[in-house]
Amino acid sequence: MFIMKYRPLGKTGLQVSALAMGCMRLPEHDPELAAEVVDAAIAAGVNYFETTRRYINGRCQHLTAPGLKGRSRGLIVSGKAALDEETSADSYRQEIDLQMEILEVDYLEFFQVGWFALDKLELLTKNGGALEALDKARDEGIIGHIGFTGHDKPENFTKVVETGIFESVTLPYNMLNRSYAPTIKRAGELDMGVVVMCPVAGGMLASPSPQLQDIIPGGAATTAAAAIQFVLRNHDVSCACSGMSTLEMLNENAATVSSFEGMSADGQARMDRILDEFAAVGEKFCTACGYCMDCPNGVDIPGNFRLYNHARIYDLTEWARSQYQAMDEQKRAAACTECGECEPKCPNTLPIREQLKEVAQALS
Ligand code: SF4
Ligand code: SF4
Repeated sequence: MFIMKYRPLGKTGLQVSALAMGCMRLPEHDPELAAEVVDAAIAAGVNYFETTRRYINGRCQHLTAPGLKGRSRGLIVSGKAALDEETSADSYRQEIDLQMEILEVDYLEFFQVGWFALDKLELLTKNGGALEALDKARDEGIIGHIGFTGHDKPENFTKVVETGIFESVTLPYNMLNRSYAPTIKRAGELDMGVVVMCPVAGGMLASPSPQLQDIIPGGAATTAAAAIQFVLRNHDVSCACSGMSTLEMLNENAATVSSFEGMSADGQARMDRILDEFAAVGEKFCTACGYCMDCPNGVDIPGNFRLYNHARIYDLTEWARSQYQAMDEQKRAAACTECGECEPKCPNTLPIREQLKEVAQALS
């Protein structure tokens, strides 16, 4: 039995469950399980469901609909669509209608302008553009609120937040990527909803890392639990939106949120200090600038070093090994022929050949 926690979703007047469900990881080939996971999430008190037509080879909303069973009022079901030069108010409205039809609901509490960036602001707000469709749908009571999401630079996201057009922002934030923290803070000052995507770093933090578990005051039972607690300790965050594909993932995350009672200021400061130290260690090695590329033999030099850094700094060795195995053989550190062409190009004067040998040994 979980006791879900709820938080205000900016100034929308909505209370959102601290654990939200990203429906982009529902199991593509098991619709029955997908429906079960959505249904169980609702039973656990999850009330936010992030969907879009584009995910899971176009199946995301088809897989979500049976679990929702037409329930949209009382839940915060969110649709999402991109826009481009061709997007008009009419085409965007057709997209909103289509997403509701697939989800088998007559109302969406939220609609997100997806894959958004500062340089798309004019496209959004032009006469006859997507914002007109969103405003009209809101006036007609088809949707409740408008948010945005994307992967623009944090400083650009902050500028979009400051336009006042949107009621929520959905952005990536986790133990290994704190670059959007200033945007979250600004959104908090403006009383805007903040939905955190990738709280477990796209699954990376589902792999065991005792080091990251230890930085949570009192320790965390699993790395995924540490990752969710890290996100929710931030009071400007409305919810952690995690992509969940199994009942086990849902239960683990719901249990974490149920038992999380916040974190003291001292505990938070200690955690930030340790994460800063980890990041500083990472910068002594490869900074992923890419100046050494392209390797004439096809080795993905920064890609290999990134995996290695995660293994040695965060203890994410199991994850790093699995990623290394999943790489094309040509891109792996072991494919380096030691020609030496890359080394003079590295501004950090890294002994790339030597280090690639270490990577191959550690991750093979
Ligand atoms: S030394 Fe290795 S990684 Fe560097 S350019 Fe040559 S083959 Fe590529
Ligand atoms: S040039 Fe050096 S620091 Fe930059 S990606 Fe290549 S190895 Fe890493």
